[in-house]
Amino acid sequence: MSVRLYALTCGWLTLPEAALIEGGDPAPIRIPVPAYLIVHPRGTALFDSGLAEICSAAPSPERDAYLGSLAGQVRVERASADAIESRLESVDVDVARVDWLINSHLHLDHAGGNGRVSGARLLVQRREWEAAHEADLIEAMTYKPVDYDHGHDLCLVDGEHDVFGDGSVCCIPTYGHTPGHQSLRVRHAGGEAVLAGDACYLKEMLASLRLPPGAAWDREAMREALIRLRDLERRGARIFFGHDPAFWATLPQAPAPVGQKAAQ
Ligand SMILES: [Zn+2]
Repeated sequence: MSVRLYALTCGWLTLPEAALIEGGDPAPIRIPVPAYLIVHPRGTALFDSGLAEICSAAPSPERDAYLGSLAGQVRVERASADAIESRLESVDVDVARVDWLINSHLHLDHAGGNGRVSGARLLVQRREWEAAHEADLIEAMTYKPVDYDHGHDLCLVDGEHDVFGDGSVCCIPTYGHTPGHQSLRVRHAGGEAVLAGDACYLKEMLASLRLPPGAAWDREAMREALIRLRDLERRGARIFFGHDPAFWATLPQAPAPVGQKAAQ
């Protein structure tokens, strides 16, 4: 059975590289906000949903209130073409007919478009869902329930989960960035991909096991997740880094599917 994987750009964030990786450059870098479409013979799945529509608005008190402390730290860009429904249109997929919405975690650059994917079952780690509904963690982890409380039919999982039952699309727990962060392994027509999400923002994090300076719920768990990703890479998988602009530039963008493993 052939599985196709598509890379969707859902906006851009600009922030100091030093905020992403220990020892990073204090100069700002512009990083992509990725989402992925997986077309499987038994259905379609999205991995993350990009930014909320309010991120496209001109600066306003409402936009600042939504972004909270991020407003002063990160420049957020979201063109109308970056909306998840627009990106899906380019592949002739109706956002209302997506079967599975799989979130790596529930931060605003991963779950901001969830409300648009209204007909899908929402698949997240149970511990992520629970953390994102605990008042003190909402505050401490900068979750925004307005992103994800849309009454989706929920599928809460604990650890590894085989989405279509044939081993081709599997959730892999990579806790640490948030309490229930997960990555997604996809065996597609072009090879084996591991969509790392924020378990690994940048390629150099994997080689050096350098973590972000802050922004992690459990640093030891995040380090273990990086080691797990490195093992998967050694066994032949291609790691798709969560916010790496150089990596992103190597990927064909939808409507072209992701192809063969590129020379690295
Ligand atoms: Zn992120």
